Amino acid sequence: MVKPDCVETNQVESIKALVNASGFLIITERMLRLEESLARNFYAEHSKREFFDDLVDFMTSGPVAAMVLQKRNAIAEWRELIGPTDPSKARVSHPQTLRAKWGIDTQRNCVHGSDSSLSAGREISLLFGGSRST
Ligand code: ATP
Repeated sequence: MVKPDCVETNQVESIKALVNASGFLIITERMLRLEESLARNFYAEHSKREFFDDLVDFMTSGPVAAMVLQKRNAIAEWRELIGPTDPSKARVSHPQTLRAKWGIDTQRNCVHGSDSSLSAGREISLLFGGSRST
């Protein structure tokens, strides 16, 4: 998912170009604005963290671009391409990653990646469970 910061700065096409160049197939995609309840549910694992309400505000502040990506070992490969959570650290240790290139700070870090097949299934159904558009 491309988060609101990078949608707002028009990085979606550049990100998709890198996605394709990195060997991922975009199976389906949609632009949507997350409802507050959906954002809370999506990041429920962080509901007890002090940054949770701010994170929900950020994630509902503008549209996101959600994509289902396919590649062998896609979860790990995507996490590799997006880089560490904190873009300032990513710029030092993983300068070629999406978060290094376009992330602003630990919250506004440009992109999300599912961390397991289980969470990918859950997140795909949250983001694409209703009317699906390609
Ligand atoms: P994501 O789940 O979005 O792919 P991640 O797995 O790298 O990111 P998590 O620790 O799961 O990182 O945190 C989820 C999201 O919560 C982060 O991407 C970021 O937007 C936000 N976040 C994490 N830690 C902080 C923090 N300390 N302060 C503010 N926001 C944070």
